[in-house]
Amino acid sequence: MSFSSMALSQKLITLLSELGYSSPTPIQAHAIPVILAGQDIMAGAQTGTGKTAAFALPILQKLSECDVELSDTKQTVSLKPVRALVLTPTRELALQVNQSFAKYGKDSGLNTAIVYGGVSIDAQADALKAGVDILVATPGRLLDHLRRGSLTLKQLNFLVFDEADRMLDMGFKDEINAILKQVPSKRQTLLFSATFDPSVFALSKRLQQDPKLIEV
Ligand code: AMP
Repeated sequence: MSFSSMALSQKLITLLSELGYSSPTPIQAHAIPVILAGQDIMAGAQTGTGKTAAFALPILQKLSECDVELSDTKQTVSLKPVRALVLTPTRELALQVNQSFAKYGKDSGLNTAIVYGGVSIDAQADALKAGVDILVATPGRLLDHLRRGSLTLKQLNFLVFDEADRMLDMGFKDEINAILKQVPSKRQTLLFSATFDPSVFALSKRLQQDPKLIEV
């Protein structure tokens, strides 16, 4: 399996070769074609396996293919509605995921933003108002922003849970439930988890439709 045998754009393939990625890692080889085909996935993958590119590359590809339609010209929430949301349990992981999107999406024209707790909320709200295609967030701070009305998730295409097991272990269940009330039911949901215990399967069952199970 090579990156060029997947339905990735020439621009992304060139970028990957510039980064020195000669071939996809196992999680990438399994996940990228399935995500590009529009199916949900539930993937078991540890950090260091290349899991971030496994979801970031197909998301960047698909969001670049279809430009957003701004039907509501009086929209006051933000110029560009969020189309991909990546939820992470910690600020550290959020920062890493955000850096990966910046690296892989540098020529995409797509805007990325990050929100996490423990820092001023106002600067984050201003960044969101400038328009964001891809948002990386920790659950608690994302909810704060949703309650303040600094963004909408009504046009979300992709919902990603990174380290879902850790998110549940850290007690984010209520926040996750509250966030889920604000996302459209027609979307693609990608769930990554280092372990698959019953609580992760239960989350998948609530969130996903016919997910492809990928274990590497
Ligand atoms: P991750 O598991 O997503 O945290 O990625 C671990 C590291 O592997 C990151 O530093 C990536 O830049 C790198 N990486 C991801 N995919 C590949 C690949 N196909 N070839 C070489 N390095 C990669």
